[in-house]
Amino acid sequence: MLLRTWVCLLAAASAGFAQPARRTVSLVVTGGIVVTIDAAGRVLSPGAVAIDGRDIVAVDTPEAIAARFSGRESIDATGQIVMPGLINTHTHAPMVLYRGLADDLALMDWLQKYIFPAEAKTVTPEFVRAGTRLAALEMIQSGTTTYADMYYFEEEIAKVTKEAGLRGVLGQTIIQFPVADARTPAEGLARAEAFIKQFAGDDLIVAAVAPHAMYTLDTATLTAARTLADRTRAPVLIHLAETADEIKTSQEKHKTSPAQYLESIGFWGPRTLAAHGVWLTPADLSILARRHVAVSHNPESNMKLASGAAKVVAMRQAGVVVGLGTDGAASNNDLDMFEAMRQAAFLAKLQTTDPRAVPAPTALQMATIDGARALGMDKELGSLEAGKRADVITVSMTAARQTPMFDPLSHLVYTTHGDDVRTTIVNGRVLMRDRKVITLNEAAVLDEARALAERVRAAVR
Ligand SMILES: [Zn+2]
Repeated sequence: MLLRTWVCLLAAASAGFAQPARRTVSLVVTGGIVVTIDAAGRVLSPGAVAIDGRDIVAVDTPEAIAARFSGRESIDATGQIVMPGLINTHTHAPMVLYRGLADDLALMDWLQKYIFPAEAKTVTPEFVRAGTRLAALEMIQSGTTTYADMYYFEEEIAKVTKEAGLRGVLGQTIIQFPVADARTPAEGLARAEAFIKQFAGDDLIVAAVAPHAMYTLDTATLTAARTLADRTRAPVLIHLAETADEIKTSQEKHKTSPAQYLESIGFWGPRTLAAHGVWLTPADLSILARRHVAVSHNPESNMKLASGAAKVVAMRQAGVVVGLGTDGAASNNDLDMFEAMRQAAFLAKLQTTDPRAVPAPTALQMATIDGARALGMDKELGSLEAGKRADVITVSMTAARQTPMFDPLSHLVYTTHGDDVRTTIVNGRVLMRDRKVITLNEAAVLDEARALAERVRAAVR
């Protein structure tokens, strides 16, 4: 008895001496179910995340984090899931201003009769800034922390993205016909190069080259876009094999598929992300796998425009990395990545008649770590692990539709909406807390968008 008391006293004393001083960090998120999306698929229930500056410094149990760290700020995530921010691998942010302008049309009709004419009359730097503010507000509110974009005046999109605090892989669009920010593709290429130089080394913005598609560009411009990307080490974003029309055009003009035509001209290279890939053949997939070209799957846009069902299971089996995207809000009609996850799972099941196709954990991976891989940023993003950037969201799990909860991963994919996100953190900075967006004036952003809608309406009258 006496001996045991001695041992206890000794243990207590040595624990007291050995206790290192707690490290002060900028932020501790504690108390929620932490879904890490790390390689082991660790889920800590409850767990905590310590953040210092722009980085995650530790992910552990609340007790272990409290023993090692004291946060200057803390967020109580009780009743919530804490997870990596979502990565939208394909959108056109300012197109939120064309949301609901023209629905229920095939891609070519929709583009040629509504979107291209509206863009010709409305796209200005001011319009692009207002659209990006609205898109950023929606993304922050629905838990997207990184997005890949292809549009015009991309430097304006980059400035607003930085102000909002979001992370972006932003591609200056190059297209054959005259557009708002370039009369010729050569001008578009020059703009892309200036944009890449302007944002070199930026903490939040990765500037990319975005040749629109093989059916809207000639061979010389496509190869010039690749050369520019190689010279500047910038990522490349392109649309690929989106519709049956594109395949037909490619067969008529080049006697081969879009992916094989692009292979034949030496277009494929590192850090390249092809959006859609609905009509890729097994031969196309082996080219993309060999060239390490990733695909952005956009199930909602593909369904709404009736473009077809991308063969996601076959892509993944062929070794192609598949991220998830919303596409522009004019063909979705929102930027909610929770809905994109759910529809990706449902569409794969319908397409294969196999309910095991794209299970919840796979959909979740596609929206996080595989999105990061698709953008060549998986060392920094896509999971909650020490050393990665602190892009973190908390998601409430207390709504009627989320009750009861047996499996957090199932709930994230099958019942959760973007509106359930409570906190959005990018690069260690809190952009939204308890659904209050801190970096944007919500009322002003909405007013500005409503005022610009008049200009859009007049453009297609
Ligand atoms: Zn697109």
